[in-house]
Amino acid sequence: MTSETYDYIIVGSGSAGAVIASRLSEKADLKVLLLEAGGPDTRAEIHVPFYATKLFKTRLDWAYYTEEEPHLNFRRIYWPRGKVLGGSSSSNFMTVQRGHPHDFDRWCELGNSEWSFSKLLPYYKKLENHFSGPSEYHGVGGPVNVARLKCINPLTHVYLEAAVEAGFSRTHDHNGAHPDGVDHVQVTQKGGRRWSVVDGYLTPARGRQNLTIKTHAPVTSLMIDKKRVRGVTCVQDGKVLQIFASREVILCGGVINSPQLLMLSGIGPADPLKSLGIPIVLDLPGVGQNLQDHFLVPINYHCKKPISLANAELAENQDIYMSSRDGPLTSNQVEGVNIVKTDPTLPVSDLSINFVPNYFLDYGFKSYDAHAFNFYTTLRRAESVGDLTLFSKNPFAPPRVRANYLSKSNELKTLLKGVKIVREIAHAKPFAPYRGSELDPGKSAQTESAIADYIRNRGQSEFHPVGTCKMGNDPLAVVDQQLRVRGIEGLRVADASIFPTQISVAANITVIMIGEKAAAMISKGEAS
Ligand SMILES: Cc1cc2nc3c(=O)[nH]c(=O)nc-3n(C[C@H](O)[C@H](O)[C@H](O)COP(=O)(O)OP(=O)(O)OC[C@H]3O[C@@H](n4cnc5c(N)ncnc54)[C@H](O)[C@@H]3O)c2cc1C
Repeated sequence: MTSETYDYIIVGSGSAGAVIASRLSEKADLKVLLLEAGGPDTRAEIHVPFYATKLFKTRLDWAYYTEEEPHLNFRRIYWPRGKVLGGSSSSNFMTVQRGHPHDFDRWCELGNSEWSFSKLLPYYKKLENHFSGPSEYHGVGGPVNVARLKCINPLTHVYLEAAVEAGFSRTHDHNGAHPDGVDHVQVTQKGGRRWSVVDGYLTPARGRQNLTIKTHAPVTSLMIDKKRVRGVTCVQDGKVLQIFASREVILCGGVINSPQLLMLSGIGPADPLKSLGIPIVLDLPGVGQNLQDHFLVPINYHCKKPISLANAELAENQDIYMSSRDGPLTSNQVEGVNIVKTDPTLPVSDLSINFVPNYFLDYGFKSYDAHAFNFYTTLRRAESVGDLTLFSKNPFAPPRVRANYLSKSNELKTLLKGVKIVREIAHAKPFAPYRGSELDPGKSAQTESAIADYIRNRGQSEFHPVGTCKMGNDPLAVVDQQLRVRGIEGLRVADASIFPTQISVAANITVIMIGEKAAAMISKGEAS
């Protein structure tokens, strides 16, 4: 066994961890270690936007599954999570969506006064290099390049026109003054390539003497003495390493692995941990609770013209990509988004209708041997709450995940409205030259019960689970507003698990923002 000491140890190099490692190591007198369970981001498919789904179920994917979901006909739902440098920022679909100011004002109302939208906006601006230039809402010169897609499929332009014709408003910036409405997506890309947190934060920091990055180094437990975290135990090259942190350990393992690591280390709900033979360090009942996700329903149409992304991988398009980083392989596939209210009296939007100019079902594993286009409608304000517990004290065994999708009856009703809206948009005039038959759920699914069956059989995660180490001051809160684990010294959590409630859109840019804010809070503590 070998041992080393750092000021800060960061566990997990994903959307939050990479940011914190980079920001803390800006101070040359701090010794920072970043530990990542996965390997370096060398696989070519990571960097080509169109190939995001090719990373599913590879060794770069933790490939979790929920338990059998009672409201989805007992299907187990697949949850990809990046297991590689950059975490899920190296494997996601790259869309940039900040969320509605209301989302964060709700966090504030729940006792997190430092997390209102107005207090977070400076961090969103600081992190980005936004294509629209500097403004009240946007920043330039930051590490995260936010771009428009270089090559937009013609069907996506049709989608925008059709949504407007169906009565939806057009916005020109979901991340600005008008978050609702239909627009092209904004993406974390630069020059037609994915722009992950490795590109934005770690690559520029690599030359620093005071930053050590270890890959293939899964942390298996925290070393805790008298309610103070002293360091971590991890495994690298078959060796067990004990590594000490003189100041803090910061968990950034993501929504599944951070609560798992806390529980493996004896921090969590006491009774279930005791029954697994894990010695209790702190009875913290909220660890693993409050799990929330976005649930989506895919709807596919045959396309009468041969213009969809089914052509993307043709040799000529590979050549265009290789020579100029342009063409359809620069597409993240999710090219259009429409954030809507299913009822005008609602205070905030509750659904989104996303557009993919390609066939999409079963996470992309099911193919269609012709041209097609897809709309997927997502519940923005799901109230279903799940949880995460351990099956075993083996750190390499996946935990037990229950999402509890559609456990509230209004959620199914909202999705039924979503399918209706999709059909209205698909039947708007601009789609007439392109729209063939509805493939999924298909023309025969007309009654509410037939559509509900389809939703239960084909709905899936939109890959944004959050909330398992929530921030707050109620009995189920795991971290305080400074992201310090309550009742333990020298330990923070900073990643998607700290969301007190789900936000209305995708999570990546918000998790990066959490990384920026966490680093600023830690640095402020250093200065005081
Ligand atoms: C397929 C997919 C598509 C998505 N699409 C979008 C999108 O288009 N837009 C969007 O905004 N969001 C999207 N998301 C969600 C978004 O990417 C995540 O919410 C966000 O990246 C989560 O960041 P995180 O820091 O919490 O965790 P992650 O980025 O997942 O990072 C956690 C890191 O910790 C490492 N780790 C875990 N356990 C250990 C351990 N014990 N020891 C060492 N290292 C460990 C992991 O390997 C990983 O690298 C998508 C997610 C996925 C998976």
